[in-house]
Amino acid sequence: DNCSKIMGIPVPKVTMEETVHIIDQVITDKKADLFHVVTLNPEITMSCQHDLQLRSIIDEAGHLTADGTGIVMVSRLKGNPLPERVTGCDLFINLLEIGNENNWSFYLLGANEITSLKASEEIRKKYPNVSVVGRHHGFFDQKVEAQIVDEIATLSPDVLVVALGAPKAEFWIHKFKNKLNARVAIGVGGSLDVIAG
Ligand code: UDP
Repeated sequence: DNCSKIMGIPVPKVTMEETVHIIDQVITDKKADLFHVVTLNPEITMSCQHDLQLRSIIDEAGHLTADGTGIVMVSRLKGNPLPERVTGCDLFINLLEIGNENNWSFYLLGANEITSLKASEEIRKKYPNVSVVGRHHGFFDQKVEAQIVDEIATLSPDVLVVALGAPKAEFWIHKFKNKLNARVAIGVGGSLDVIAG
């Protein structure tokens, strides 16, 4: 079996390396449909038990990884182990590294304005071949939201990083899936805060 069931959710047994490879392939292929990557943490797993809409978003996602250490532990106890944790933050950093080798473009959505600015500056310093084509903080109203969606669609980034917290990011990506014109979108929790330092 290539999945391990965690609280009813089939989680693919993939390593970080395999996950990065899958995403690299999507970006290389320039597929038209947005590829939604969900890093499954305890908040999402628990919410899925009663929130059927969230559950269907997870089921529809292009790729799922185990973010939480508890999820990996449960899979081991059940004798069908997931190979390792693939957290949103680690995945983001791995994507910046491979993105730097392949000149990928990123759009950063989320966190407060200072963190967003600092994170984009850090990325420019550490990953000079990555282009941060746009960014917006994560505290916006509906009117601005429509402008953000249009901006992302115009910029058409390889990777849209959504740091709005879980499961807010997953709902947001799903809501605008067909409008964003990005190759890959991924909810990354507090990663921009980590990168901003
Ligand atoms: N955030 C945001 N808009 C919101 C709520 C949260 O941009 O309306 C940001 C917040 O500033 C932080 C991130 O989302 O950078 C949430 O990080 P957290 O570690 O709480 O997320 P989790 O790992 O729980 O998904």
